Amino acid sequence: MQEGSELMPQTYDVLIIGRGPVGYVTAIGFAQAGLNVALIGPAEAIKRDGRTVAILDGSVELLTKLGCWEAIRPFAAPLSYMRIIDDTGSLFRAPPVTFKASELKLDAFGYNVELADLTACLAGIASDTQNITRFDTRVSAYALNDIGNSSVQLATGEKLYAPVLIGADGRKSSVRLSAQINVKEWSYPQTALTAIFKHQRDHHDISTEFHTRQGPFTLVPLPDRRSSLVWMMEPSRAERLMALSDRSLTQEVEKQAQSILGAMSIEGERGLVPMAGMTVETYANHHVALVGEAAHVFPPIGAQGLNLGFRDVASLLEAFKAHRGSEALARYNKARQADVKLRTAAVDLMNKSLLANYLPIDFARSMGLLAVASIPLLRRFMMQRGAGH
Ligand SMILES: Cc1cc2nc3c(=O)[nH]c(=O)nc-3n(C[C@H](O)[C@H](O)[C@H](O)COP(=O)(O)OP(=O)(O)OC[C@H]3O[C@@H](n4cnc5c(N)ncnc54)[C@H](O)[C@@H]3O)c2cc1C
Repeated sequence: MQEGSELMPQTYDVLIIGRGPVGYVTAIGFAQAGLNVALIGPAEAIKRDGRTVAILDGSVELLTKLGCWEAIRPFAAPLSYMRIIDDTGSLFRAPPVTFKASELKLDAFGYNVELADLTACLAGIASDTQNITRFDTRVSAYALNDIGNSSVQLATGEKLYAPVLIGADGRKSSVRLSAQINVKEWSYPQTALTAIFKHQRDHHDISTEFHTRQGPFTLVPLPDRRSSLVWMMEPSRAERLMALSDRSLTQEVEKQAQSILGAMSIEGERGLVPMAGMTVETYANHHVALVGEAAHVFPPIGAQGLNLGFRDVASLLEAFKAHRGSEALARYNKARQADVKLRTAAVDLMNKSLLANYLPIDFARSMGLLAVASIPLLRRFMMQRGAGH
């Protein structure tokens, strides 16, 4: 990867806006396919606020194919078991359900890694990849009206041209706004508290999701005796817990975790993320494609968000294998419809069913979980979808 400068040619095959994990993987994929890529975004270090991402088997396949997985693996812990515990206190509660990766003949459903570590690994690989020119700045203006000759103006004043722009610039995407792609947005009465804990007992590579009345409380393994927490709850309660001392917060977490990991201690900073959802009316138009959170946002249930973003990238690379320009973009748009809609709806339904506090809904949810757990074909199908296939 080279640094962009005024002396470099300013026309590229593709401009990728955003240097989050999805932007990096898109850039690496296009560069390996032989395209001349400009990757634009501020080189801000990702803050460590306890956020980790479970990279599921389908994403591991993509990252392996692109030669990225080997660098990431040492920072990641396998998720060999996924356990769901209904902790709603409802009259209709399904018994705890545990899914084993070995049932799918896999070592793990996926691997959990700190978002900051993942992004740093991908940044290192991108900087060793030819055909990527990096611009450490933001895009300040877009001119998307000329098909085949779009341009962006950087905050430094430079102007870059390309037939195709990829918006990997996150949930507040300016690429999306400039391309006049409409969105549907909504919010949930929940905030997620994130943190990393060391603990006394081994996690045995088990990810445990407690389904509480305010949302899931999930402990996900990290290397050694460490786990990350994503705890979704009412915003006022999240603010209150965020203000607690490390010791008091840890006590609350141990209690909620029913002490399954023994004594715990907090490691590093915590984060708070308000829960929201967003879908777009189209994933691409004549000159722009949206990937990752620029294209879809939903709550962190079942580890779907970034994995969906990586599947966007796989689909975009596939579309550009045989086609270029608007034909490839149209194919990409068509290919993403079903997958994104299905995951968004499934996460929304699961979350709302927990919040509903209504017996018939509790009954339907627990029967659904029981059916998934006990009907072999359904169980296998759901595990495969859950692992990102
Ligand atoms: C608590 C929590 C837990 C999660 N857990 C999981 C999980 O287990 N598994 C999973 O798959 N997903 C998970 N997710 C979702 C996942 O974190 C996101 O999907 C993912 O981080 C989004 O990556 P991205 O690259 O699309 O966007 P971002 O990481 O937001 O990157 C966007 C980039 O664009 C840049 N940018 C913005 N505007 C401009 C501009 N004008 N010019 C240049 N650059 C710009 C920004 O600086 C940023 O670097 C979780 C989310 C939360 C909130």
